[in-house]
Amino acid sequence: MQSTTKPRVFSGIQPSGGLHLGNYLGAIRNWVRNQDKYDNIFCIVDLHTITVPQDPAALRENTLDLAAIYLASGIKPEQAMFVQSHIPAHAELAWILECFIPMGWLERMTQFKEKSGRERERSSAGLFAYPALMAADILLYDTNYVPVGEDQRQHIELTRDVGQRLNQRFGDLFVLPEPMIQTAGARIMGLDDPEKKMSKSLAADAQGHAIFMLDSPEVIRKKLARAQTDAEPAVKFPAGPGVRNLLEIYRTIKDRDWPAVEEEFAGKSYSVLKSAVADAVIEALTPIQERYRQIRADDAALLQQLRRSAERLAPIANATLRRVQEAVGLR
Ligand code: ATP
Ligand code: MG
Repeated sequence: MQSTTKPRVFSGIQPSGGLHLGNYLGAIRNWVRNQDKYDNIFCIVDLHTITVPQDPAALRENTLDLAAIYLASGIKPEQAMFVQSHIPAHAELAWILECFIPMGWLERMTQFKEKSGRERERSSAGLFAYPALMAADILLYDTNYVPVGEDQRQHIELTRDVGQRLNQRFGDLFVLPEPMIQTAGARIMGLDDPEKKMSKSLAADAQGHAIFMLDSPEVIRKKLARAQTDAEPAVKFPAGPGVRNLLEIYRTIKDRDWPAVEEEFAGKSYSVLKSAVADAVIEALTPIQERYRQIRADDAALLQQLRRSAERLAPIANATLRRVQEAVGLR
C-alpha cells in the first residue's frame, strides 16, 4: 500500500458462507504464495454477497470468518485487507459504470445465468449488475492484475471493456487489469457432481458438495469417501470427471504434475485414492484451522485491523472516483 513499484493486485472473496477447497486452492493459497511479489489489496466483498438473500447475523459472522481465514492461511497482517462496504466509493463508481455498460454485455455473463437459473425474473437487479460492481472494485485501485479462478475470467474481460470504453471517451481514466489464472486448482469441481464448479452457494443445498476449510478430519474423510467416481473398478487414464477432480485436488495440494499422479495412482483402488486425497487435504487444512481459532478469539482486534486498512485505502479509491466524476460531468 505504500508507494511502491510492485504491480498492484486486487483480490476478493465474498463472505457468502464457509470457504471451500476451491476457494483455497484456486485463490487464497496462491495469494499467500505470491504476496511479496505484489502490492496487494485483499477485499471482503460483502456488497457482492447481498446480491442473493443473506441472513444479516450470518453475514456479519461470515465477514469476520473470512478475514480470519485470510490471515490464518498466511496473508501477512501488514497487508491491506478490508471490507468492501467500508469504502463507499465502490458502490458509487459501480453506479456510474452501470450507466456505461450495455444490458447485452451483462446478459452474456455465465455467472448470472448459473446463479439466477430458473428464477431469472425473481433474481435481484444487483445480481444482474454484479460485474459492474466487480469492475469498480478493480478499477478504483489502478489494479494491474486480478488473481481469480476460471469462473471469473469473463468478469475481468467485462472490466477491461468498460474501462476501455470510458478511456476512449474521456481520456485515460483507468488502468486496464489483466486476469492472473494459474493452471493447477483453477476449477475444483463439486464432489457430488463433477460437472459443477465447487461453490459456496451450491454447498448450502447439498451436504456432500464441498469440503469446507473448517471441516474436521472426520467430516473430510466422510465427504471424500462419498465423492463421485467412475464406473471403473480402479483408477484408469484418461480418468472420468469425478476421479480427475480428486486427482486435481491431490496434485494441486502436493504441487505435482499430471504424469507424477498418473504414475502414483494408475491401477489403484478408489479407496486408496480417496484416502490419499483425504490425508493431503487434512494435512493442508489443520494448521490453518488452528490459527483461525486463535484469530477469531479476538474479534475486536480483527475489526480494528479491517477498519484501519479501509482508512488507508479510501484516499486511493476516492481519487479515482473523483477523476471519473469530473470526466463525466458530475463535478
Ligand atoms: P459463491 O457461490 O457465493 O459465488 P464461490 O465459491 O464461487 O462462492 P467466490 O467468493 O465467488 O466463491 O470466489 C472467490 C474466489 O475463489 C475467486 O477467485 C474464484 O475464482 C475462486 N473460486 C471459486 N470457486 C472455485 C473453484 N471451484 N475452483 C477454483 N477457484 C474457485
Ligand atoms: Mg462465485
